Amino acid sequence: TGIKELLLSRIRDVADYPEPGVMFKDITPLLADPAAFTALTDALAEIVGNTGATKIVGLEARGFILGAPVAVRAGVGFIPVRKAGKLPGATLSQAYDLEYGSAEIEVHAEDLSSGDRVLVIDDVLATGGTAEASIQLIRRAGAQVAGLAVLMELGFLGGRTRLEPALAGAPLESLLTV
Ligand code: 5GP
Repeated sequence: TGIKELLLSRIRDVADYPEPGVMFKDITPLLADPAAFTALTDALAEIVGNTGATKIVGLEARGFILGAPVAVRAGVGFIPVRKAGKLPGATLSQAYDLEYGSAEIEVHAEDLSSGDRVLVIDDVLATGGTAEASIQLIRRAGAQVAGLAVLMELGFLGGRTRLEPALAGAPLESLLTV
């Protein structure tokens, strides 16, 4: 469709970032184009409606930029999942493995409860490690996972397959797949 072509045309490939051999997908040209950013926001807000989500969790940092306008457009709440040590209140935390070492993400425990149906939003799905940890956090907080929505899925990294057990039938919606 025209929307996919518009979105794809506003994503820039940056070679050898953040390290040699990696082709980084840079979404800043898309954010700078109001027509493209609006089209993306509308497409993601439609997924909120389709999944019956009542809350959005955005993953630091680009998941904040995409998720916040979607929450406003869809009329649901926005909850940040942050890297460890950034949230001031009582948190739940979840560690996950990186290629070298590990990372930890956190959410305010009181921001999620058992009545919530949560759609996770991020810009890019790569290996799926970050998304998997966020799904575990949401479940541990007692909330339901309505799905995961991303602008772009890097299919060759196998994130979709990795996430199958965690998603447990909840949808993974990617607007673009490369
Ligand atoms: P994963 O945990 O799926 O391996 O990595 C996903 C996280 O890293 C996401 O939060 C995403 O923002 C970031 N990421 C990984 N690769 C890229 C990329 O090529 N472009 C962008 N914009 N983000 C990426």
